[in-house]
Amino acid sequence: MPDSRKYADRAEYLKKAVSLRRKKIRQMLVEYKGGKCELCGYNECIDVLDLHHKDPSTKEFGISSSGLTRSWEKNKVEADKCVLLCANCHREIHAGYKQPTWVTK
Ligand SMILES: [Zn+2]
Ligand SMILES: [Zn+2]
Repeated sequence: MPDSRKYADRAEYLKKAVSLRRKKIRQMLVEYKGGKCELCGYNECIDVLDLHHKDPSTKEFGISSSGLTRSWEKNKVEADKCVLLCANCHREIHAGYKQPTWVTK
């Protein structure tokens, strides 16, 4: 069936385009936030870096989540409320194991 074949190709193409765009925004966000974990300085694998909200009452914003389909401007505004952390430090903070340095007094 040539028609359904074409449709499948197009769906595949769109899927790739979306994931490329997400990857691009993710890259831009990580660079925008300094490119490394603010606690330990980890800067190797971009997929390991997360944005963590400084204000716990604000909704957590995962840069790996579907939220990335939004515009760059919206992502940037959101990123301004966050710190860049590696997955390790991020979990340690959520577990209460590490005290975030930006929470001083
Ligand atoms: Zn770290
Ligand atoms: Zn977090």
